[in-house]
Amino acid sequence: MAEAGIIDGKAVAARVREQLKTDVAEFTARTGIQPGLATVLVGGDPASEVYVASKRKMSVAAGMADLHQHLPEDATQAEVEGLLGQLAANHAVSGILLQLPVPAHLDAAALIELIPFEKDVDGLTTMSVGLLAQGKPGLRPCTPSGVIELLDAYDVPVEGARVVVIGRSELVGRPVAQLLVNRNATVTIAHSRTKNLADVCREADIIVAAVGVKGLVTGEFVKPGATVIDVGIHRGPEGLSGDADFASVSEVASLVTPVPGGVGPMTIAMLLANTLRAAELQYALAD
Ligand code: NAD
Repeated sequence: MAEAGIIDGKAVAARVREQLKTDVAEFTARTGIQPGLATVLVGGDPASEVYVASKRKMSVAAGMADLHQHLPEDATQAEVEGLLGQLAANHAVSGILLQLPVPAHLDAAALIELIPFEKDVDGLTTMSVGLLAQGKPGLRPCTPSGVIELLDAYDVPVEGARVVVIGRSELVGRPVAQLLVNRNATVTIAHSRTKNLADVCREADIIVAAVGVKGLVTGEFVKPGATVIDVGIHRGPEGLSGDADFASVSEVASLVTPVPGGVGPMTIAMLLANTLRAAELQYALAD
């Protein structure tokens, strides 16, 4: 069998960001409102600092206002809650993103719930999760939305397709499964207690691997011609790799996302898309 085609997430993400530039300019011209993203970083975790810096840079490149907030490592629960309350009430703030993980002394779940659903650009509040589960309009988590965008960009049929999502986390597995169900796929959620995982996966037209186990998905898991979307990110001496064993999977699949350069670049692009959606939602609610 020929080698699988590569799903180029870098190129798709660049196209999404380019389109957003136009859409943001059009929204601002129409409403007089510049969408603003408030990233909230507590402490100085080096990986989080890098992520936040690139979210800020790309939001500015898309024509949005950078309303970043930084609190010290020892900020109290009350201080972070106070800041989130101010951002929730501030009309210049379209989207609020609390960068996770927060320092261990803070109650992250309680903080997330303070973000109003119409500003919840990470899609992680109970309200946003409920709207997604009910198939109602709302802001969806960024990485799962990026997975759907990649499938659409490569015209992978989702309606009626059999999909196996490996992983049931709140951040990726569950929401991506919901998004796929809402798009009329037949979805199986596999997880750490699933029996005969390879057999379950071989039924799938599309496999979404969000497991956090390096190289778990091998060619043996893949039905010939299936599409494999690899959400995993692992840092090793040879650089980044994913939850799929790229070499053996690409011998069997028809399309596969590489790591790096697949799902990863989509996450920030979808965050920016969510920030514009949030601004539109607030404009409509204020009408
Ligand atoms: P998680 O640890 O919260 O969840 C992993 C899930 O996989 C769990 O539900 C567990 O049941 C399941 N699992 C674990 N071992 C298994 C096994 N052997 N067989 C079957 N299922 C198993 O992880 P997460 O937050 O969902 O992230 C998953 C991966 O995606 C990680 O590598 C993470 O770094 C990556 N990630 C990437 C992005 C991105 O932007 N590309 C965003 C978020 C997460």
